[in-house]
Amino acid sequence: MKIARLETFTTPDVGFVRVTTDSGETGWGQVSTYNADITAEVFHRQIAPHALGTDAMDFADTLDRIGEREHKYPGSYLRRAMAGLDTALWDLRGKVEGKPVVTLLGGTPGPLRAYASSMKRDITPADEADRFRRLRDAHGFTAFKWRVGAECGRDRDEWPGRTPEVIATVSRALGDGIDKLVDANSCYSPARAIEVGKMLQDHGIGHFEEPCPYWEYDQTAEVRAALDLDVTGGEQDCEYSSWRLMFDRRSVDIAQPDVMYMGGITRSLQVCRMAAAEGLPVTPHSANLSLVTMATMHLLKAIPNAGKYLELSIEGPDYYPWQEGLFLGDPYRVTDGHVTVPDAPGWGVEVNPAWLDRAAYRLAEAG
Ligand SMILES: [Mg+2]
Repeated sequence: MKIARLETFTTPDVGFVRVTTDSGETGWGQVSTYNADITAEVFHRQIAPHALGTDAMDFADTLDRIGEREHKYPGSYLRRAMAGLDTALWDLRGKVEGKPVVTLLGGTPGPLRAYASSMKRDITPADEADRFRRLRDAHGFTAFKWRVGAECGRDRDEWPGRTPEVIATVSRALGDGIDKLVDANSCYSPARAIEVGKMLQDHGIGHFEEPCPYWEYDQTAEVRAALDLDVTGGEQDCEYSSWRLMFDRRSVDIAQPDVMYMGGITRSLQVCRMAAAEGLPVTPHSANLSLVTMATMHLLKAIPNAGKYLELSIEGPDYYPWQEGLFLGDPYRVTDGHVTVPDAPGWGVEVNPAWLDRAAYRLAEAG
């Protein structure tokens, strides 16, 4: 079974990929979100030409070969585009074999604990605490993540005094028995990160994400060595070489690859294996409700070193207007703090035909 057609359906924020084989079977995947229109151009110039005509079922070597043939272009865009091919081929394989992707990966479908993940920094501590309490009571979430510092903030706060206030206010509002996580998105120098980290420990917060500029593996390692809580990171890292460096420097307690930034499931599995060899759990980054979160759900229900929960964005149309109406039905419904990995073949989601009708279309075909 060979890859005969690769189609993209793209907006500037999201791009879906449909793969069709020479026998007419299809699968759906997605390139990474954000600048998806640029990523689709990379897909058609640097991914599709190498993939057309290759084996649609056995594709790990095809992904490696694409990296080799495009070795002058390492980094994010090639991997973001590669994710479209990889995730479409996993869906295809699931549909051909009549199995959910999670089963192909050695796991089982079913419920998966999620943590409610805030993306907002422009929210007051009181408003953040209020909406967390509402979500806890309405959906049974038992874990929450919120934002401290400013994104790549060079030690600055979003506004003066916000970080100490949001740490105290939100942890007090959530109370005992709730897992508490924060994300600094590369804000701090090691000295300031350690001060903030001690404040976090004093308030029962157990997960400190990306305390320092993420590319500074030694800085993050210094913070990890000085604190008892889990220092975590890795969402932007998309090459095995940077993960090797991160693990060798003992920068993190928990690895957080993003399935779409990494180039898909196949390459993410390799990072999970690297983490397992270091004895580290994996809590992937999945910060919006496009296909990234569904792919991550299948992955987490399959790997032996899965972290405690799935990252599930709580943001709606005011923050993520572009994620409305991507799929039919409600694939990310939460019951008792859990989402459900579907047992339908492939990813178990259907891209909304009405969304596809509005997207920019492009086709690549085997000659
Ligand atoms: Mg993060």
